[in-house]
Amino acid sequence: MDDRPRKHVDMDRRSMLRGLGWSVGSILLCSCGGPSGTPARVGGSKQPINVPAPVRPVPPASEPVVRVRFSRGTGSSQESVIGMPGQWTWIGPADDEHDRRLVRGRFTVKAGPRGWRITQLHGGVLEVPGARPLSITPMQEQPLHWNGSTWPGSIILHRMSSEGDGTIDYVSHVPMETYLPGVLSRELYDDWHRSTHESLAVAARSFALFESWFWSDRRHFDLVAGEASQAWVGTTGHRPSLEAVQATRGQLLMYAGRVIPAYYSSCCGDQPSSAIDAIGDNPANDIPPLGSARSGSCPCQWSPTWSWQRTRTHAEVSRDLAEQARRAGLPGRFDLDNLHAISISERNANGRSLSVQVTDRSGRTFTMDASRLRSAFNTSRKRSDQLPSGNCSYRMLDRTVLIQGRGHGHGAGLCQYGAEAQARSGMSMQRILAFYYPQSSIEQAWT
Ligand SMILES: [Zn+2]
Repeated sequence: MDDRPRKHVDMDRRSMLRGLGWSVGSILLCSCGGPSGTPARVGGSKQPINVPAPVRPVPPASEPVVRVRFSRGTGSSQESVIGMPGQWTWIGPADDEHDRRLVRGRFTVKAGPRGWRITQLHGGVLEVPGARPLSITPMQEQPLHWNGSTWPGSIILHRMSSEGDGTIDYVSHVPMETYLPGVLSRELYDDWHRSTHESLAVAARSFALFESWFWSDRRHFDLVAGEASQAWVGTTGHRPSLEAVQATRGQLLMYAGRVIPAYYSSCCGDQPSSAIDAIGDNPANDIPPLGSARSGSCPCQWSPTWSWQRTRTHAEVSRDLAEQARRAGLPGRFDLDNLHAISISERNANGRSLSVQVTDRSGRTFTMDASRLRSAFNTSRKRSDQLPSGNCSYRMLDRTVLIQGRGHGHGAGLCQYGAEAQARSGMSMQRILAFYYPQSSIEQAWT
């Protein structure tokens, strides 16, 4: 598909790791939406007083398993048929491996009021009572067929009782090195350079390792398959992706002895952002490799989203702001008395827009993060009409606002189009990573 997200990565995770960043005048309205920093996580009360909890993980000595939520659904549609004809699969409660049964062929799974109901397409029903997560593990380590793709590892189904409608989270528990090729094959074009694939393999591995550590005891998955984390197709036969992962096996990006959450995005527009500004003020992001300083220009001008232009009517701006406030639990807070002016109020040292000021005809001013406003303008819009990044300027016209921007995604860390240009000019994976993550080192964690 033309709009496959692999080229349009935007790990816009502020809603998880940063507050909404909205204010009226100089008064901060809301800093909710998630932890503003990494809370004490390891050791808890066992931590000696005066020793701060670590904000980034040390590398593990052996290959870890990551938990990737690749879908959420009700199990009621035709796409929810799992397995292949003749395939044998173990099914049972995830917390009791002795209470599992073998199922042959294709089947569907539904979450009912009394428990799980597994219906085999060639006949037969298996009931697993209770609300415990359900484990589905193919025999002989074959990948599991589901919804047109194959998913490696064990699949754990979680009932999302808060949804109240039988919603199920599908989470693959997959070894890191098995997970990564399906990331690369979706995030990069098939014919992109070997060094680009290797660079992204190390970055994606480091990011996934950090996420796995951060979320391990906070929720039932570490990553999602999509723009909120990184894209993932499950298993892949794409040789450059498989080879790049194999060539960099166990290698992680490190700083000061700990793993870096190595963010990346599609095109920085040569106006990179720090991770603090782009992702959130988690102290894990407050390190030189994730700052906005680089040793030279990023050669990403050849990206189709290097520069772009969109328009919104004055009425659309007012409507989108009101809707965003409503979703944030602040209904009525951003009801404009007709749009009067909109402009960038803050840029970083690279010229990247950070915050936007909106004024209505009553003279009230509203200030918000540039990426927040982008999110407001993109909700419920088809992709071709969305703003590729929050890095843009606004110009008031008679009935519309002209929005002119540069780059695609949050602009922190590696720039995919820039990395590919560097790779084609002969730069190695090591030099590319040193450019986008200054002062970092590449270290071998497992073999
Ligand atoms: Zn760039």
